[in-house]
Amino acid sequence: MKKTVISVVVPVYNEEAVIHESYSRLKVVLEGLDDSYELIFVNDGSRDATPDIIRGICETDSTVRLIDFARNFGHQTAITAGMDYAAGDAVIVIDADLQDPPEVIPEMIAKWREGFDVVYGQRAKRIGETFFKKFTSAAFYRVLQKLTDVDIPVDTGDFRLIDRKVCDALKRVKERNRYVRGIISWLGFRQTGVEFVREKRFAGETKYPLKKMLRFAFDAIASFSYKPLKLATYVGVTVSLGGFSYLLVVLYLKMFTATTVTGWASMMAVNLFFNGVVLMMLGIIGEYIGRIYDEAKGRPLYVVREELNFTRGGQARPAVVQKSGEKRYPLAA
Ligand code: UDP
Ligand code: MG
Repeated sequence: MKKTVISVVVPVYNEEAVIHESYSRLKVVLEGLDDSYELIFVNDGSRDATPDIIRGICETDSTVRLIDFARNFGHQTAITAGMDYAAGDAVIVIDADLQDPPEVIPEMIAKWREGFDVVYGQRAKRIGETFFKKFTSAAFYRVLQKLTDVDIPVDTGDFRLIDRKVCDALKRVKERNRYVRGIISWLGFRQTGVEFVREKRFAGETKYPLKKMLRFAFDAIASFSYKPLKLATYVGVTVSLGGFSYLLVVLYLKMFTATTVTGWASMMAVNLFFNGVVLMMLGIIGEYIGRIYDEAKGRPLYVVREELNFTRGGQARPAVVQKSGEKRYPLAA
C-alpha cells in the first residue's frame, strides 16, 4: 500500500530562540509515525537568525523545507503559503513556539484515519498566558460566534490537521486579510476536535501585541459578518425615534404651557455624543471599504524570496511570486 504523506507547516517570525527545540520535538513525533512526512518552515520575514538556522537544518535533513518570504506578510498568510506548497495527504499547521504540543499530532492523525477531514486542536486549558490574553481571547471567540452564521468552534487556534481535499478547497479561497481557521470552518467537511493543554511559550515573546490582536480580531469579524454595518441602521432608527418623540414633547410644552425649554449644555452633550457615533460608523464602513480596496488591487498574497528542499524534476527553482493556490510541488524523492 502506498504510504501516506503528512505535511507539517510551521510559520515562523523571529523565532531564533525556539527553532531548534521545536524542530527536535517535531522530529521525534514525526519519526514515530508510520507515514512519510515533510516539515515546511515558512519564514515570515524574520529579522533575526531564524532563516539561517532553518537553512542549516535543511542542509542536513532533506525532509525539512523552507519558504522564505521577501518580507513580513503576517501569520495567516504564512500558513496559507505553507498549505499552497504542502504536498501531503494531510496537512498539519502548528505554531513554532511549542504552545501547541507536537505530541498531539498522532491523535489528530488517528482521528483523520477515522474519516474526519478537519481535526482542530481545542484548548482545554491555557498555561502561562496573561489573564488579559485569556480573557480577551475567550471574549473574542464568543462575540465572533454571535456575529457570524458560520460555526467557528470556540477556543481553537490554527493548530489543526486538514485533509488534502480541504487543502485544495482552501486554495480556491483567494481572499486577503485572511482568517484561515474561519475559512476552514466555512468550507464545512467533517470536522472534529481534540483537546489539548496550551502550554507556555517555550522561549521568546509573543508576536501578537495588542495592536495586531485587534487587527486580527476585526479581520475575523469583517470576513465573516456584516453585522457591524447594520449597527448604523439600528442606532440610526433608535435615535431618530427617540428624537422624534422628544420633539413632540418640546412642541407640546411650547404650545400648551408657559415653560421655556432651556439647555445649552445638554444640547452640546447630545451633539458631541452623536457626532461621535456617526464618525464611529463611518470608521466601520471605512474598514470594510479598505478591505474591498485590498481585494480589488489583486496583488499576490505573498512574495517568496527563496525556497529550499522543494524539488521539481530535481531542479532548484528561482524565487517566485505566488498567488494563493496556483502551484503545487511534488515531494522530494
Ligand atoms: N508568526 C508569523 N508571522 C507574524 C506573527 C507570528 O509567522 O507576523 C508566527 C509565530 O512565529 C508563531 C505563530 O505565528 O509560530 C504564533 O505566534 P505567537 O506565538 O507569537 O502568537 P500567540 O501564541 O502569542 O498568540
Ligand atoms: Mg504562541
